[in-house]
Amino acid sequence: MDPKQAIAFEIALQTHVLQTCPVHNEIFYDDDVDPSSAFALAVELVRQHKPYVCDFHDDAHALTDLLSETISAAPRSCPHCPSATATKSVEEAPLRLI
Ligand SMILES: [Zn+2]
Repeated sequence: MDPKQAIAFEIALQTHVLQTCPVHNEIFYDDDVDPSSAFALAVELVRQHKPYVCDFHDDAHALTDLLSETISAAPRSCPHCPSATATKSVEEAPLRLI
């Protein structure tokens, strides 16, 4: 992974916008969480010249761009967890009985 993208990932994980499935270790985007907290943290880190974000050379915009890219690329739920499809199969169950 690109080190800059790793930073964006880390910020998203820290603010719980991206979450890791405890079972499959897969990263996914929780849309119950307001992603603005991740952007606020990203801007704050750059503004405070934290060594952690020095790769972005004070360019908060570059980091927020990468952050929104990282968040939108993540799946809406863990791709291996049955929970995402569970609701669907429950809805389909009555149809199978007919
Ligand atoms: Zn999972």
